[in-house]
Amino acid sequence: MPRIGIGTDVHRLVEGVPMHLAGLAWPDEPAGLEGHSDADVAAHAACDALFSATGLGDLGTNFGTSEPEWAGASGATLLAETARRVRAAGWEIGNVAVQVIGNVPRLGTRREEAATALSAAVGAPVSVSATTTDGLGLTGRGEGVAAIATALVLR
Ligand code: MG
Repeated sequence: MPRIGIGTDVHRLVEGVPMHLAGLAWPDEPAGLEGHSDADVAAHAACDALFSATGLGDLGTNFGTSEPEWAGASGATLLAETARRVRAAGWEIGNVAVQVIGNVPRLGTRREEAATALSAAVGAPVSVSATTTDGLGLTGRGEGVAAIATALVLR
């Protein structure tokens, strides 16, 4: 029986912080995302979509303060561990779709590379797309970057 899930994440954009997004480093970016671990919103949204689809909780219940060994882990590492937990619970992963919402970085040039990195972490196809919000809201003002993800799993 297939099930779907949804996940979202937002992190603050801060000057001088290294940018990690969608499983990739972006060394030319003057600002990066600040937050728990490497603040990779795309990877975190994908984790939450997988947990949502399988009823296994969320990022906080799986990798929060009760499991300090995951503090500081990269988004790709958390995503790989999420996929491991999903499969250990008896689910097959069909696919994950991630959409990044923000002005920076310009994902278009590295979209395939990002999809390859996240697909490798999940062990199933992950597609990556990007959009902006016409200058509106927290992402439009450049205060942060958001991501939304869906996941399909099969028993
Ligand atoms: Mg996050």
